[in-house]
This record gives sequence, structure tokens and C-alpha cells, in this order.
Amino acid sequence: MGDEPGGAADDSAVARARALLDAARRVVVLTGAGVSAESGVPTFRGQGGLWRSHRPEELATPEAFARDPELVWSWYDWRRHTVGQARPNPGHEALARLEARLGDGFLLATQNVDRLHQQAGSRRVRELHGSIWVLRCTGCEREREDRATPLPSLPPRCAACGALERPGVVWFGESLPADALGEALRAAATCDALVVAGTSAVVYPAAGVAVAALRAGRPVIEVNLDPTDLSGQVTVSLRGKTGELLPRLVGA
Ligand code: NAD
Ligand code: ZN
Repeated sequence: MGDEPGGAADDSAVARARALLDAARRVVVLTGAGVSAESGVPTFRGQGGLWRSHRPEELATPEAFARDPELVWSWYDWRRHTVGQARPNPGHEALARLEARLGDGFLLATQNVDRLHQQAGSRRVRELHGSIWVLRCTGCEREREDRATPLPSLPPRCAACGALERPGVVWFGESLPADALGEALRAAATCDALVVAGTSAVVYPAAGVAVAALRAGRPVIEVNLDPTDLSGQVTVSLRGKTGELLPRLVGA
């Protein structure tokens, strides 16, 4: 069903996607790191994804944190600094406009931990992978929000019980927040259209949100620089930058 291989974002494909969205009252959007790339936040898999020659898969895990919490925290401290300087781009802004139009009919499930969607004005956001601005105690589980960059001391410790704090994100091998994931899956299976943007759709179970819409026979629009595993199955696959294509899909 997808566009021809390499099918770029030609005007007719954009028009078809736009018509699907215009007709939809219930829309689910699934976003990944690509949506924040144009804000200067590096993706894991693209260029700029390496940090001191460590791969994210070696740092974003409970095992890495148990082995070397200071190393893992210095990586997060660097990422918090990068994200702290980033501002929402036209892709984030377009999704906030779509929500303003649809109200409760809109749901944004994001794998991003940067909160740039919220900064752009999105409110109905479900953070499938947590937030980089949240610190969670490994002892008493207390959570707090802290926007300081750099953090005053690494690794940070809980003021209540003295145990190590960890980033409030979901690491490789950990479960996603069940309520957020469940809501996203249910909404995807019953929506009028799903938009999957800036995600390689290989990280499960988040990618399952797009698959749930496909299985239920819902129209799916993909926006990505490169083809993904989903490209051949979606209704319209648009190749290009989310910062350019999402505004064209949503309009002013
Ligand atoms: P990912 O698997 O979602 O891959 C990024 C995708 O975005 C790729 O398919 C790439 O082709 C596409 N892309 C890149 N720039 C684009 C652009 N301008 N327009 C359209 N598409 C573009 O993400 P990942 O980087 O492999 O990270 C995996 C997980 O790590 C994420 O799901 C998230 O939890 C976390 N992460 C979060 C952030 C963030 O919050 N901004 C950044 C990096 C990683
Ligand atoms: Zn504690």
C-alpha cells in the first residue's frame, strides 16, 4: 500500500496524507527522536549518536548503571545540557496546532524524553520512555523534577534516604509505563488516522502503537527521512524532515 520505493514526499502524497488528517476526528501520533533532531537533539542511531565512543545500548541499561553510575550519569548530564539548549521546531509546533484543532480526539505518544512537545504547547502527551528531567530514587522510589544542568554533583543522591538517584527514563530491557502504553495502544486501534513520525519503529513495545493501528486497518501516515520496516505497510509514507512535512500536513 505504501508509496513506490524511495517514494519521496511528492505533492500528491502530501495531499493524500493531508486529506486523511483533515477528515479525521480522532488522531494518534507516535513520535521518536527524529522529531527533535532539527532542534539539535541527536538521535541514537544517526550521526552525532556517539558519546565518548560509548554506544547508547551500553549506557542506557540498568546493568551499565549498576556497574558505573557515574559514567551513566555523565552521559545523561551531557544529554540534559544538550536538550536544555534545544527549542521546539516547526514539527513540534505543527503537532500542537493539530491538538488545538482536535482537542480530546488527539493523543500524542512519544518516545522522546526531552519534553519539547510540551514546550511547544502539546498537552495530551503520553511519555512512553519517561523524561530526562525527572530523577528517581533507587531506594525509596521518590521522584523529583530537576532542570539543573550540570547537576551539582554526580551521581546525585536522594535527599530523603541517601540512595542513588537514577534518570527517570525507561532503559533498554525495562518495562514501559503500563498506563501510558495501554492508552496509546487502545487509541491507536480505534483512531481515524495515526501519524508515525521520526521513529525508526524498531524499538518495541513503543513501535507496537503504530502496528496496533495497522492491524486494526486504520490509515497510517509515516514521516521519516529514511524508509523503515513500516514503510511498506503504511497508507502513505512520506520521506523527508518532520520539521518541513508536519507543518504541510497540519496547515497553519
Ligand atoms: P529512533 O529509533 O526513533 O530513530 C530516529 C528516526 O528518526 C530514524 O528512523 C531517522 O531516520 C529519523 N529521523 C532523523 N532525523 C529526522 C528528521 N529530521 N525528520 C524525519 N525523520 C528523521 O530513535 P533513536 O535515536 O534510535 O532512539 C531510541 C530511543 O532513545 C528513543 O525512542 C528515545 O527513548 C531515546 N532517545 C530520545 C531522544 C529525545 O528525547 N530527543 C533522543 C535520542 C534517543
Ligand atoms: Zn530515596
